[in-house]
Amino acid sequence: MICDSIARYKRLSGENVIFITGVDEHGLKIQRTASHKGVDPQSHCDEISNIFIQNWKAWDITHNKFIRTSSQNHELMVHEFYSRVKKSDDIYMGVQKGWYCVGCEEFKDNPDNSPKHKCPIHQKNLEWKNEENLFFRLSKYQLQIEELVNKPSFIQPIQRRNEIINFVSKGLKDFSISRTNVSWGITVPEMDNHTFYVWFDALLGYVSAISSDMKDSSLEESINNGWPADIHLIGKDILRFHAVYWPAMLLSAGMKLPKKVLGHGFLTREGQKMGKSLGNVLDPNLLLTKYGKEAVRWYLLKDISLGSDGDFQNRRFVDIINNDLANTIGNLLNRTSSMSRKWFNNMVPKMEPSSNDNYLELYSTKKVKKYIKHFDSYELDLAANEILDFAIKINLYLNEKQPWILIKEKTNISNVSNIIYNVLESTRIIGLFLLPLLPDLSKNIDLQLGSIYKKEISWNEQLNWGLLKQESLLPPPSPIINKLEYD
Ligand SMILES: [Zn+2]
Repeated sequence: MICDSIARYKRLSGENVIFITGVDEHGLKIQRTASHKGVDPQSHCDEISNIFIQNWKAWDITHNKFIRTSSQNHELMVHEFYSRVKKSDDIYMGVQKGWYCVGCEEFKDNPDNSPKHKCPIHQKNLEWKNEENLFFRLSKYQLQIEELVNKPSFIQPIQRRNEIINFVSKGLKDFSISRTNVSWGITVPEMDNHTFYVWFDALLGYVSAISSDMKDSSLEESINNGWPADIHLIGKDILRFHAVYWPAMLLSAGMKLPKKVLGHGFLTREGQKMGKSLGNVLDPNLLLTKYGKEAVRWYLLKDISLGSDGDFQNRRFVDIINNDLANTIGNLLNRTSSMSRKWFNNMVPKMEPSSNDNYLELYSTKKVKKYIKHFDSYELDLAANEILDFAIKINLYLNEKQPWILIKEKTNISNVSNIIYNVLESTRIIGLFLLPLLPDLSKNIDLQLGSIYKKEISWNEQLNWGLLKQESLLPPPSPIINKLEYD
């Protein structure tokens, strides 16, 4: 949902967006899961991938590419990439010993800190590994990676950036990029008993996805058609792979580096970690059918600061949706369009040319600047809060002006026209603000204002004040979002 909102925002801002998501499908964890289920890994992956594809469809996620790393075009690109890295003399044979978490597919640094050798994320026992693997010369890129992670724009949020700087400052160690005991993976060329370490192959998905549906799908095609990425949005637990290992691999292959890596937090439920054993996992299908996607999007995007952990609380969720969307934004539009229809012959009123009430106009101009500034720096929660703040301000304006009292005196008619026009025009801007975050709600607002979004002029220009057409017809009001009830 975060990625989808960013992608929608960038498209509205006129950028050519390639929004990639997908699944990495190789490795020991998947091999074992398939074997426990008694199916071959490919069928297992087909089933899981399909769940994701169906889910994103149901939630109206607007990705342009869905990468599956078990696809043949991806395999070819991994081979191409590997040959570049090999040419840079960054591959050698060595022995890998250490404690490994199959869940993370990662060797752990300090298992001795935990008496039972357990993965702090998965709470499962680590496994001792000792095998001959191919290694990647990560240590060779120490200085370049240090410089990179110290760039203030590269890693977000700040607390995660410090963790990575700290990790890199301790000295980078070469890491193994092949396995001899994992058959479910991409075979290393000329080394039949080795498959690529899942991360070495998975990270390439960002690149292979770009040209996946082109006729001459290749590394070069991907590089020429969109690489490097402007942003990788990932979970905080895989930041090290994206901010350290991946850039070094790219440097070795002579490729450009992604501009930013943003690690988002984890979601808990009612203050507790979600897990199968606790039986408290949030079911996306249930959320969707029960509350609808706009409600869930608003809660997750507005109430959780990107980069921090978030908590899903049912009461808070219901309160926020009812308060923000139904009462504050929905009601504002409803009551104003009702007044307008009643007093101005079912139309948007005419603005008096002599009006000097530009309070909401000035406020709106300020809000546009703030909203764009927050969205550009990926502070979606702050952008969403600007919308809410704006709506609260408009409600206050309306309550102070009290047009329902003014209208009783005939001489006040032009004053009332101006007030109602200002409020309706502000709700148009709110609708546009909501477009990347809550596209369906935004479209409902548009319908209520008489379908006034203009395809022919850019979204940024539409944010200018005064585009709501005076004396245009208003359709009969209907609620733009339903109120929710407690469970
Ligand atoms: Zn783990």
